[in-house]
Amino acid sequence: MNDSNNAENNFSEGTVVKKSTGHCWVQTSEGVLVCTVSSMLRKQFVYPTSGSRHTVQRVIENDHTDPVAVGDRVRFIRADDTSGMVVGVLPRRTRLSRRGIASNIGGYHFEQVIAANVDLAIPVFAAARPAPAWNLLDRNLASAESLDLPSLICITKLDLVLNPDGSLPDDLQDAARLYRKIGYEMIFTSTVSGAGIDQLRQVLKDRISVFIGKSGVGKSSLLNALQPGLGLRVAEVGCQTGKGRHTTTLTEMLPLDFGGQVIDTPGMREFGLWDVAEDDLAFFFREMKPYVGKCKFGLNCLHNEEPGCAIRKAVMAGEIDPRRYQSFLRIQQDGYFI
Ligand code: GDP
Repeated sequence: MNDSNNAENNFSEGTVVKKSTGHCWVQTSEGVLVCTVSSMLRKQFVYPTSGSRHTVQRVIENDHTDPVAVGDRVRFIRADDTSGMVVGVLPRRTRLSRRGIASNIGGYHFEQVIAANVDLAIPVFAAARPAPAWNLLDRNLASAESLDLPSLICITKLDLVLNPDGSLPDDLQDAARLYRKIGYEMIFTSTVSGAGIDQLRQVLKDRISVFIGKSGVGKSSLLNALQPGLGLRVAEVGCQTGKGRHTTTLTEMLPLDFGGQVIDTPGMREFGLWDVAEDDLAFFFREMKPYVGKCKFGLNCLHNEEPGCAIRKAVMAGEIDPRRYQSFLRIQQDGYFI
């Protein structure tokens, strides 16, 4: 988070720790500056929604895109003690992105970077209220795989589902077994009983992590349990509906007293993969990767209805979980590939 000065051109460097539409908060060695983003950075490369990848269709300048993400190292010009302007983004070590759709310019897709320079993606799901959406988890995981970002799964609100003897219900035991077998750590937490909170602290310690999850799954409560006051925006329970109200509107990087930082994202209902070609998708399902290239049609197989598909055979032989394969097909059927 060091703020280094560049005497030659009067730029300084800092880290984006919070962002809303139009503004970002840049941590410098002398405090936090609220910055606008230079229009120079608002050029956007537009890709077609089908056809060959990496073909820039046109360049647009607009307000749909956000060139700066939380976690970015940026160059800025200071205006006064409290404000400035971001004029450059330094190369990202890692990023977590999803597909953004600029509906008011004809549905073009663009890369929406949710967080930059993170070490770990943590998809957060509730054990109940709402029930876990495994397909969405599989999307989160495939997306992180495609960006070479390690993931760890957190299932919270454990207190709502435990059996009377304190054991996990069968469906969660099955899920834990499945994802651990594939190679993902899955941890269970409850902010009511305190279960798993220390374990989560160990995971977050001394790294930059990003929480991904729909609103209402319990992210803010987890932040508060990790460190009092951290997740200030826990939804109040609506008197009439009984449902949690969505209050997180900013993406924010929060410093942890015990070391490390966690980026909290606004609840995302959808999570489309960015920059994944249709025939590459199986690479991002860890258990399918070993079968890629072994189908009758070699690398041309989409693992859908083609005869002699090694992945389908592995599903039938019980080597690949059918539910994961269904997730794979659902992502494929979205048809949003570049
Ligand atoms: P966020 O939108 O993901 O930040 O979710 P919140 O933290 O605001 O939580 C949504 C609702 O779930 C609130 O009513 C919380 O009180 C409730 N909640 C969060 N964590 C737990 C938990 O571990 N157990 C139970 N029973 N309820 C929880």
